[in-house]
Amino acid sequence: MLKINKIDLIALEKVKDKFWSLVDIQDKESCWEWKRTNSGRGYGIFKMGSKYHPSHRVAYTLIYGDVPDDLLICHHCDNKLCCNPLHLFKGTVKDNAIDMVNKGRWNGGRDKKITEKNREDIKRLIELGTPIAEIAKLHNINRATIYRNMAIPKRSLKKYLESLDKPATCRNMQQWLDSQK
Ligand SMILES: [Zn+2]
Repeated sequence: MLKINKIDLIALEKVKDKFWSLVDIQDKESCWEWKRTNSGRGYGIFKMGSKYHPSHRVAYTLIYGDVPDDLLICHHCDNKLCCNPLHLFKGTVKDNAIDMVNKGRWNGGRDKKITEKNREDIKRLIELGTPIAEIAKLHNINRATIYRNMAIPKRSLKKYLESLDKPATCRNMQQWLDSQK
């Protein structure tokens, strides 16, 4: 199971008006913030059918077309809620979580608890803005266990993300990529 759900383009076409109605559309320089559900990790979340998608990824897809699974949609503006297509760009992350999923590191999904082995993976998924529910499914770990063990303060996830040493979004991404060389 991939971390990032593939966006169904045909289904998306049918709900695009609804999607944009949930975005606070401003002039082209300003951030267009998502008005609805926040993932709890600071990203907007748009539900299509039974699947959840980061709203900025949906916005990007609507304007520029399909995004390959291994690419992240990043914010020039550092505003995770922003869906202004002009503020979004595609980016790769060398050792990102998707890559690890593709390589089968998470295939077992029988962890049950947080260990030294999976802690880094879980941390990285959190940094990438993956909903905790998805992480819980990937690792077969109770959501509450993740919150408790990763010391995530439920009400201030933003602060938690800021405290991590890797970029939570794609902020300073180039810098970070350079440091991976
Ligand atoms: Zn913005």
